[in-house]
Amino acid sequence: MRKNIVAGNWKMNNDLPQTEVLLLDLLDQTKSSNAEVMVAPTFPNLYFAYKKLKDSFIEVIAQNMHFAPKGAYTGEVSAAMLKSVGIKTVILGHSERREYFCEDDTILKQKVATALENEMRIIFCFGEKLEDRKTNHHFKVVENQIKNVLFGLPETAWTSIILAYEPVWAIGTGETATPEQAQEMHAFIRNLIAEKYNTTLANEISILYGGSVKPGNAKEIFGKPDVDGGLIGGASLNASDFMQIVNAF
Ligand code: PEP
Repeated sequence: MRKNIVAGNWKMNNDLPQTEVLLLDLLDQTKSSNAEVMVAPTFPNLYFAYKKLKDSFIEVIAQNMHFAPKGAYTGEVSAAMLKSVGIKTVILGHSERREYFCEDDTILKQKVATALENEMRIIFCFGEKLEDRKTNHHFKVVENQIKNVLFGLPETAWTSIILAYEPVWAIGTGETATPEQAQEMHAFIRNLIAEKYNTTLANEISILYGGSVKPGNAKEIFGKPDVDGGLIGGASLNASDFMQIVNAF
């Protein structure tokens, strides 16, 4: 079902004491929300965070996982491991994973398949680079990223997929897509899904925007008809900023 969602990606920030402070601050700020709220701490802090938030309205999710069920993959974490510590949702395809860890469509396809086999929800991230936008290739790039990884899936799998459009040029740069640019891309994505599958399915998918969302711009961006929330990096590290964004709904 299409929902409003705000997810905080903490990336490689916060050790255990800092994680505890931020979690307590988040719980202090608000007791409920009109949107589904998620936070993604680092792997070592997932179980701690899960235990702290399990009776709250905030879901703890993972930033990444490996596609293999187990084995000789030093430094990696499997879906089963995440599930064993209470995690049911994973972010896949973040631009930093694509850029710094060489995650391509082939790898992401395997990760998506593994997450689905393990009955996990996926926040699937994609988005164009600045040169793609400057050369007017942004729609094609986004179309390929979605098609190559997700369009082999059966219709039933889409109940577990949340999309996150994150133009790379807007991530951590302070540069935000205008609400109109976000809406234009989100409408394009919804139309792609309608063409490949059907309009009912397309209208059920939550499409989040990510890229320098802040308390000052969240309301306007979330106000667009095809924007169903946000994936928040920098601003999710501050409880007050994050909750102001959540409360933009
Ligand atoms: C992100 O990394 O997904 C992100 C959107 O970061 P920021 O909000 O800092 O641009």
